[in-house]
Amino acid sequence: MRWSQSKTTLLQTVSLSSLALHFRSLLRQCARATALLPGKQLHAAATVTGLLSSPNFFLRNALLHLYASCSLPYHARKLFDEIPHSHKDSVDYTTLIRSCHPFESLKLFVQMRQLGLHLDGVVMVCSLNACARFGDTKVGSQMHVDVVKFGFEKFDKLCNALMNVYVKFGLLGDAKKVFEEIEVPSVVSWTVFLEGLVKWESVESGRVVFDEMPERNEVAWTVMIVGYVGNGFTKEAFLLLKEMIFGCGFGLNFVTLCSVLSACSQSGDVCIVPGMSSIYVDGKLHQFIAGDKSHSRTSEIYTKLDEMICRLRLAGYVPNTSCQVLFGCSDRDDCSEALEEVEQVLFNHSEKLALCFGLMSTPSGSPLHIFKNLRICQDCHSAIKIASDVYKREIVVRDRYRFHSFKHGSCSCSDYW
Ligand SMILES: [Zn+2]
Ligand SMILES: [Zn+2]
Repeated sequence: MRWSQSKTTLLQTVSLSSLALHFRSLLRQCARATALLPGKQLHAAATVTGLLSSPNFFLRNALLHLYASCSLPYHARKLFDEIPHSHKDSVDYTTLIRSCHPFESLKLFVQMRQLGLHLDGVVMVCSLNACARFGDTKVGSQMHVDVVKFGFEKFDKLCNALMNVYVKFGLLGDAKKVFEEIEVPSVVSWTVFLEGLVKWESVESGRVVFDEMPERNEVAWTVMIVGYVGNGFTKEAFLLLKEMIFGCGFGLNFVTLCSVLSACSQSGDVCIVPGMSSIYVDGKLHQFIAGDKSHSRTSEIYTKLDEMICRLRLAGYVPNTSCQVLFGCSDRDDCSEALEEVEQVLFNHSEKLALCFGLMSTPSGSPLHIFKNLRICQDCHSAIKIASDVYKREIVVRDRYRFHSFKHGSCSCSDYW
């Protein structure tokens, strides 16, 4: 469709360049909001009005940014190629380098250098990241020269990106040199260096650096834990995981858990998926893992737990210590924990914590519903059976395999599950 005669006249009245300015500003807004559909409509309108054909309006540049921000690198690349060289600047190159395939990114970076375009820290970081992804150490080393030449070595992000390239390809000595040049390494710098050590030197030297770190983020903890698992130090891995969650207040985040599980599966090691029990109270979900101390009412929960264990014991509960495998202990002889300690770990099972929380925060006599991601253990099963009688409650536990409805001291599964 073309503009009708009357519209062309109108366009002539309103200057074309001010219309193009309006388009550009709208396209920029679409890029910021990653709003692809209105952006595409503007693209179509710019084409039919003929505005797109003039490079002086810089609409292709604006569209390039839109498609790059919407993760459509091929669309972005097509527009980029249509823009005359005289109308492309460093920002256009950087946008494309950031969004396209690493191989293309590196070619573009080389082109930028040849054209003598302005190279800033952002484009260097993006290109180094492309190096790390593409696996090109040669370009990486050349870029190290650039980093020094352009005087960017004081930029933390740039040094981290450079270290990351070296770490990815096992050039630990080079990574170390960069790390030592950083005046005040940030937590990210420490973490990249730590990853290199764990990956290419040894988990023990990684641990030395991990202990030296002024502060640690979740990535650092994960690198260390996964390093332990990958090298067969399962016990150390779980001790560290425990310290991360209970000692340092980090939640058991999905990334760490997945990394640990994936490292376990790769190393063929036996891995214990942390059990988690959930209970809804007043429409709010409360989740517990074994030994959990993250709940806002932790001290009340543990007081209630002591009281509950006493009452259960009086009613005939005997802790079944054979249910307890200690964190990371594949060989039971290794774990010479006193029996009492083993019992205490049993009492801290997530089902029991959820049960105590349910007992103390709901009216007496009302039923309780608990969800467990794994199979309920025998000890919790017998404890909850007795609790249903002692507290005169119906307690329903949905575990990974089935429902258990505990009432008057017995379970619907008849102890067969
Ligand atoms: Zn249990
Ligand atoms: Zn049952």
